[in-house]
Parts: sequence; structure tokens; C-alpha cells
Amino acid sequence: MKRRELIKHLGLLPFASTIAASWPFRASAASAPAQADLFEELGIRTFINAAGTLTYMTGSLMRDEVVSAIEASSKRYCMLDEVQDKVGEAIAKITHAEAATVTCGADSAMTLGLAGVLTGYDIKKVGQLPYLEGTGMKSEVICQKAHNDPYNHAFKITGCKVTTIETVEELENAISEKTAMLHFLNINSDRGKIKHEQWVALGKKHGIPTSIDIAADVPPVSNLWRFNDLGFDLVFLSGGKGIRAPQSSGILMGRKDIIRAARLSAPPRAVNLCRGHKVNKEEILGVYAALKHYVSMDEQKEWKAWEEGVARIESAVKGIDGISTEITVNPLGNHTPHLSITWDDKKIKLTGKALQHNLRYGTPSIEAGFSGLPMFDHQATPPDPHSVGRNYVGVTVWMMRPGEEKIVARRLREEFLKASI
Ligand SMILES: *Cc1c(COP(=O)(O)O)cnc(C)c1O
Repeated sequence: MKRRELIKHLGLLPFASTIAASWPFRASAASAPAQADLFEELGIRTFINAAGTLTYMTGSLMRDEVVSAIEASSKRYCMLDEVQDKVGEAIAKITHAEAATVTCGADSAMTLGLAGVLTGYDIKKVGQLPYLEGTGMKSEVICQKAHNDPYNHAFKITGCKVTTIETVEELENAISEKTAMLHFLNINSDRGKIKHEQWVALGKKHGIPTSIDIAADVPPVSNLWRFNDLGFDLVFLSGGKGIRAPQSSGILMGRKDIIRAARLSAPPRAVNLCRGHKVNKEEILGVYAALKHYVSMDEQKEWKAWEEGVARIESAVKGIDGISTEITVNPLGNHTPHLSITWDDKKIKLTGKALQHNLRYGTPSIEAGFSGLPMFDHQATPPDPHSVGRNYVGVTVWMMRPGEEKIVARRLREEFLKASI
């Protein structure tokens, strides 16, 4: 279809103008009429995200400020190291860190940060990773048993092992000349005997860098600087979750010498561990734009809007016979109101799986929280341990566009009423 025909075609759609106005990739109708249509052209299903910041659902939508920064910066050249230097300095100032650099995700920040610890400024060592034997590099990361989540695989690809401990005594016995780093997982900080401050103090006592994974733990905005203030040497944050920077971005922040060393393992340099972790200038600037906007926003106002959205969905289904609802907030990560809906299948003839199917293939398509990570098939998801054998659906509104909570409220009500006995 030629462009002019396409514009004409779009004009015939009754809601085309509303779609264009609310579309996050906002562009003038004349310059980019087909943006939203590539999904249609290729037959890609789009949906309302009632589930949260999940990578397999493409995470979060970039803020308008981020998209503008990407578009504007895409038209000019600059030196990749210079944009990393300047953006890093600006991010460090915002986050109270000594230094920062943009990575292609929290996972990438974990690998790069540890690479920096292992190699220092030794170029020979940079080229030797991930083969540690005989190099004189350290080879172990220690964390608490409850903090050893699967993402720690990002450390193992440097060649290091991850060792777990439970008590301070076990930690002190486990520390040896091989210990590279002591790692902490903020979202599990309610589990494990050793808390943030003590972890940092133990690192300082033994002269070993401490790190913390806070990938999904902003908001609150204060978490951007809290762990730098506490004295962690490295902090890992996702760009594509709460701050709504590009989905393929992250931030590594912390000690200046380690971050400089980490950059030896990253582009534009090659023949290193993380040449494959390239982040382009547009995304680097996009992260800066996201952060700048994020710290200037009214956090309470946003929170109130989320509460109202969740309450609206709750009230649409609450009165239906057999339905139970609960609103909870995880204080440590994915910090946003979360609505759980369960139902009595003697009163409502519906399984969680059938509801998922009906929402997914209804109009408009909706994805809510039913199940865990898909392995390969983007249509089929394996069962979530929380929802197995239960009539359950989980809903959040923080990744929705304004107004979508009304549609979700209506669709859920329709499905429950239809299935009511
Ligand atoms: C999401 C997540 C990661 C990975 O972050 P990316 O930015 O997707 O690379 C790592 N750790 C935890 C705890 C996470 O939730």
C-alpha cells in the first residue's frame, strides 16, 4: 500500500485519530502514519498489559520523553564513549553514585560489573574472560542462599562460581583469596539472615566489593540512590521496568574504578566478554531522558492513579456472587498495587486457563497475570505455581495506558457474569 493510500485508509477507520493521539510512539500524522500498522501488517497481536513488567510481554512502554530523545538523537553522530561518559556522569549525579554506565539490561549490568571487578584495568585479563584458570583472577561470588535467584547466571558467564551461605559465620568461613564479590538481592531482603547494612560492612571488613540487584525495585524513586548511599560498590537496575526507559536497557552504577574497568569489557571495544552487550546512543540518551523525567515526576500522584485504577477493577467484579478480591503491595519490588481475584467454581463455571484464553482472544486483547515465564512459545505459557489448581487472576494497572483499566474492568465483569451459575 502506498503511503497516500495508507493515510486515506487510516482516515476511514472510525477510531484512527484516537489511536494516533494516544499511541506512545507519538509522531505527527504526516511524518509517520504507519507506525502502529507494522503490527497489523505482520499480524502481530497487541494487547492491554494488565500483568506488569514482563520481558516476554515486552516489558514497559517507553515514556514519550524517551521516544523523543531517541528520535532526535537518531539523526546525528557522536562518539559512543563520549555519550556513555556524559550520560554516566549525569546518571551518577541523580543516583548519588560515584559513576554509572548504561548497559543492555540489569542482567548485562551484573555481568559487566563483575567483569570490572575481575579484570581491573588489565587488558590482558579482559581478553581472557571467561576462562579464569591460570590467570590469577578471582573466581567466586558469594550470596545468601535466599538471594541466589536464577538471574545470578549473569555472574556465572564470567567464569565465576556462585557460592551460597546462610550465616555471618558461614560467610566468613567461605571468604577466601578466590572471592571476587559479595552479592545481595534486594527483592528477597526480607529473607536471609544478613541485612543490607551488615552485608556492606562485611564487604568493607574483608576488602571485597559488594553488589546489589535492584532490577525491578524502582519505584519508589528513592531506591535510585538508597543503595548507593548505603555503600554498595555496585548496583544493578533495569531500564525497561518501572522507569520506562528502553526495554533493552539497564544501569550499572557504583564505584568509579570498577565501572571504568567494566567498560573495558563493553562496546565500542571488542575481543572481550560483552561486545555483544551493545547499547546504541539513542538508548543511552533514552535512559537519561527516562531518569530525568522520573525524578521530576509527582510520585504520589502516580500512585494514587494506580490505586484508583485497581479499585475500579475490583469494584467491577466484587459484587458478583462467588468472587473474592484482595489488593496487596509488594514493598520490595514491583512496588505497585496488585489485585488478586479468586472465585468459587461452584458459583462461577470458569477455570483460570479459560479466562486467560477469553481475555487474550477477546476484543481488545488483554494479558493479565496467570502464569510464569513462557519457554519458547509466545502463545502458550506454563502454569504459575501460585495459580495451579486455583481459580485465580492477578491484575496490575501500572503498565496500562490511561483509560485501559476501564476496559479491563468491563471485560472481567462480562466474563465472570457469563460464567455465573
Ligand atoms: C528483571 C530482573 C533481572 C533482569 O533484568 P533485565 O533488565 O531484564 O536484564 C535481574 N534480576 C531481577 C531480580 C529481575 O527482576
